Amino acid sequence: MALFKKKKYIRINPNRTQTAIQKPQVPDNLWAKCPNCKHMLYTKDIGIEKICPYCGYNFRISAWERIAITIDEKSFDEWDVDVFSKDPLNFPDYIEKVKQTQAKTGLHEAVLTGEATINGLSFALGIMDSHFIMGSMGTVVGEKITRLFEKATQKGLPVVIFTASGGARMQEGIFSLMQMAKISAAVKQHSNAGLFYLTVLTDPTTGGVTASFAMEGDIILAEPQSLIGFAGRRVIEQTIKQELPEDFQKAEFLLEHGFVDQIVPRTELKKRIEHLLRLHTVEGWLTT
Ligand SMILES: [Zn+2]
Repeated sequence: MALFKKKKYIRINPNRTQTAIQKPQVPDNLWAKCPNCKHMLYTKDIGIEKICPYCGYNFRISAWERIAITIDEKSFDEWDVDVFSKDPLNFPDYIEKVKQTQAKTGLHEAVLTGEATINGLSFALGIMDSHFIMGSMGTVVGEKITRLFEKATQKGLPVVIFTASGGARMQEGIFSLMQMAKISAAVKQHSNAGLFYLTVLTDPTTGGVTASFAMEGDIILAEPQSLIGFAGRRVIEQTIKQELPEDFQKAEFLLEHGFVDQIVPRTELKKRIEHLLRLHTVEGWLTT
């Protein structure tokens, strides 16, 4: 029992306060873990476009970050900034949660809409943000996207939407589900006017958003490794009593099965969107 013969022991000083203990200080946002390949990454290495250098996964970015890397500088003219969430079901703590999220994200809802340009080409733009209650679609998101299509139809503009959503907003129940039909009707009117609609599916695009406007684009692009689906993996497995393939609901799997037209890395998206807009607008035909 040599252990007990030791004369020197480490003593914990009871007078030492918690604040005096020097913990290693790591600045916030210095490291990020890739959710796809699980590599620890120095945030400097993922760049402004936030792409994993190991597996090419495109990290989730905010709507404003998306604007910064996608459209012409200062070209975004935001629409419908005065549409706010109500609490139709008196859901406990819902309004409080919305207020907290607004303060945290600087957004007033889970989607930004407006008009923008890419290399001078005008279009109506919608960008969903998964940092706002998981990009869930409630009445405000539904109303803003509907108005986006209505205004684009009036102005004769194509529409580009970046989707990112966990699905319908649980706290607004059936009112959330009604948005699917409302938006789809506006998409149809836009399409009847002969206008082009492009969707870019980003990580994650699920639930009621996938089941409506995300999959209604004339052309559907997706970012690499994005999760795209309707119901969650476990729900499907338990329902059909079968195990699903490993890459099920990944953008690559959907491309293989014809649900997505092309997977475009974030670094090339701006160029690809411009190309598609030029091909599908009268202005594009005249100028190219
Ligand atoms: Zn990775």
